Amino acid sequence: MSNCIFCKIVNDEIPCSKVYEDDKVLAFKDINPEAPVHILVVPKQHIQSVLDLDEKNKSVTVDIFDAINKIAKLSGIDEDGFRVVANTGINGGQTVGHLHYHILGGRSLQWPPG
Ligand code: AMP
Ligand code: ZN
Repeated sequence: MSNCIFCKIVNDEIPCSKVYEDDKVLAFKDINPEAPVHILVVPKQHIQSVLDLDEKNKSVTVDIFDAINKIAKLSGIDEDGFRVVANTGINGGQTVGHLHYHILGGRSLQWPPG
């Protein structure tokens, strides 16, 4: 999508601090980190949110979680644990309309979220 900020990052039109990449998935540091480790994992294909996953594109969720598994180990947060979050829609607080999973770690996280 031409006006999507995460598509622009995928297409190298906007720089990012890349953490991981394969043919389906890109991961980069969140520009406004909420934890010592705060990484965003996105499908390279534009999918608006969890609600736009369908029979044709849903296999990317496996690619994303394979990437999360690797990134957690690469980032050294696998031993102490971390959180994976996909904010969705208005109540979920989604601000970027391109499916993304936050990986948050490096400190103890509160539950429930505010
Ligand atoms: P959400 O609020 O769940 O939609 O998450 C969007 C996230 O994208 C926020 O945590 C932002 O800090 C992050 N973000 C927005 N623009 C960029 C960017 N250019 N590079 C890295 N992270 C970004
Ligand atoms: Zn996009």
